[in-house]
Amino acid sequence: MSFVGTVPAATNGPSTPLRVLYIMGHSRSGSTILNNLLGSHQQVVATGELVNLVERGWNKHLPCSCGEPGDLCPFWKEVRRHWGELAGGEDLPRYVRLQRRFERTRNIPLVLLSLYRRDPLFNEYVRSTTLLFTAIARVAGRDVVVDSSKNPVRALALSRAPQLDVTIVHLIRDARGVAWSFNRSSQPFAKTALSWIAITLISTLVIKFGHKSLSLRYEDLARFPRTALGRIQPLVGLSYDDVGAFVEAGGKIASVHCIAGNRIRMMGPMHLQLEENWRSALPPGDKRLVWLIAGWLLRRFGYRRS
Ligand SMILES: [Zn+2]
Repeated sequence: MSFVGTVPAATNGPSTPLRVLYIMGHSRSGSTILNNLLGSHQQVVATGELVNLVERGWNKHLPCSCGEPGDLCPFWKEVRRHWGELAGGEDLPRYVRLQRRFERTRNIPLVLLSLYRRDPLFNEYVRSTTLLFTAIARVAGRDVVVDSSKNPVRALALSRAPQLDVTIVHLIRDARGVAWSFNRSSQPFAKTALSWIAITLISTLVIKFGHKSLSLRYEDLARFPRTALGRIQPLVGLSYDDVGAFVEAGGKIASVHCIAGNRIRMMGPMHLQLEENWRSALPPGDKRLVWLIAGWLLRRFGYRRS
């Protein structure tokens, strides 16, 4: 059996598509912190990098933010049981194959083509993923699911799912901050700058195809969370005033069952604070190099050379 079946109604009504907030962008751009902020609303469940749930969380036992391995966490065990129930059985290897086919960056032409023709495999991927979102919303008892997978190709594929109401948040961070963060894992600055350009350009393309979206700078989110979250409010139909006021007053935010993402998800409740160590720590030559490569695109998002 595969994860194919009739998509049941979402929790919020028989004909209302399930609301999904999708965080898209480059790694190390603050998606875990945004995931936790969005998940702090009482109508919302934030899942972390859902793209990695099956292969890394369930098959490779990646820990959930609750501390349990992904396959043993009570929340994700219940989601798995409910997902299988909705679909009439489970075939995880088949679902992982579908993910590889429709979520890889190099397969973006295939996804674009699949959006405009009747492709049974693409339809199966979309239906199965819709059932997963439905299972999560039902098990959590929430109306909105946050998926911080970041992957722009997955965003493109899901933005046209008929029974999902997807809002895409393109989270952008200064490429010099991203490069500095990746330097801790010894990735060369030039490589990060090029990867940042590629993901940012693909994300910009996806936004042109998506139904509802907005671009949000990490630095603005960290400095003015109430204003930044207020921009998401009208797109998803939720008020984030209380969450914004809470963090601006110094309140701590936490992951509940965040399946994958930055290690900070495992560190418990934390304050929201702007991380800009790169300004003093990144050597001037490397700062210039990243700007030389990515400055033309950084300018488009309002970043300045110094
Ligand atoms: Zn958990």
